[in-house]
Amino acid sequence: SVLADQISAGEVVERPASVVKELVENAIDAGSTQIDIAVEDAGLKQITVIDNGNGIPADEVELAFLRHATSKITKRQDLFQVVTLGFRGEALPSIVSVADVTMQTAIRDQPGTWIHVKGGKILAKKTAESRQGTKVTVNDLFFNTPARLKYLSSVQTELAAITDIVDRLALSHTQIAFSLTSNGRELLHTAGNGNLKQVISAIYGINAARQMVSFAKEDNDFKVSGFVSLPKLTRASRNYVSFLLNGRYVKNNRLSRALIAGYGSKLMVGRYPLAVIEIKLDPLLVDVNVHPTKQEVKISKEDQLCELLSASVYQRIAQENL
Ligand code: ADP
Ligand code: MG
Repeated sequence: SVLADQISAGEVVERPASVVKELVENAIDAGSTQIDIAVEDAGLKQITVIDNGNGIPADEVELAFLRHATSKITKRQDLFQVVTLGFRGEALPSIVSVADVTMQTAIRDQPGTWIHVKGGKILAKKTAESRQGTKVTVNDLFFNTPARLKYLSSVQTELAAITDIVDRLALSHTQIAFSLTSNGRELLHTAGNGNLKQVISAIYGINAARQMVSFAKEDNDFKVSGFVSLPKLTRASRNYVSFLLNGRYVKNNRLSRALIAGYGSKLMVGRYPLAVIEIKLDPLLVDVNVHPTKQEVKISKEDQLCELLSASVYQRIAQENL
């Protein structure tokens, strides 16, 4: 029902940035190599995501807007080894329940579909020629949930949240060319050539990227690698630390503390490194199904991982003889 979708929307769609996240994750799951994102007024007026992925077959388009209509879990085991980003089939129904949405989508060599859904109701649907891929346009987000609108922060804060999400998705998918435009101004552009350092440079600037050093270390269970800033190049905010767990951006306070511990006494109090850390592990050691937005994860053998991370960073920084 539309009501159930609105309730679920409260969990999945807190703010414009959550819509951007869900739409871009769908584009990633569809195998896209190019994803272009545009927002107007921090997404409150409009969010557009264009991808060149698989597209949705004409006879499945309506289904995609129904609750729990995920096409991504085929066997029970998949729930325990989630490889795709989305797997609940809640995002699209939630978004269309609180916005005015159009989607144009086509699979290869088939006529495409154009559909208009507002407040959970399908208003129009027709065949429309288009190239393979999907374009979703979300207008007037939260038009029917004014309470939600009231809780949003300033336009700058909401735009910062969108930038943050897109940055992290670009960092975790270096093979995809991303662009992000806000009110016609380009904020990010990545090449999609698989080069993590180039993506870091596009996000944090050439100078910051130049001053970061790479490291890599592994044990029987984990492989950690990435780029960290030297102690002199630090920030006043912890927002500049990203963890990519099997290619997925995650939040984990213990890992952040372990990273900082790796700097020992070289990091000034209240300062944070700039770091992008990739962690590879057996998917069975991760439980991603902790929260609908899937950023918080539980990791088995977390102590061991934290020690490995601290030790690798410590050793790498010691090498610089500061
Ligand atoms: P989930 O991602 O959890 O499966 P969503 O509600 O986000 O659920 O999407 C529903 C379904 O719509 C997806 O399973 C997928 O089949 C289809 N879909 C959504 N967006 C796209 C896209 N950009 N390209 C191809 N298919 C898409
Ligand atoms: Mg999804």
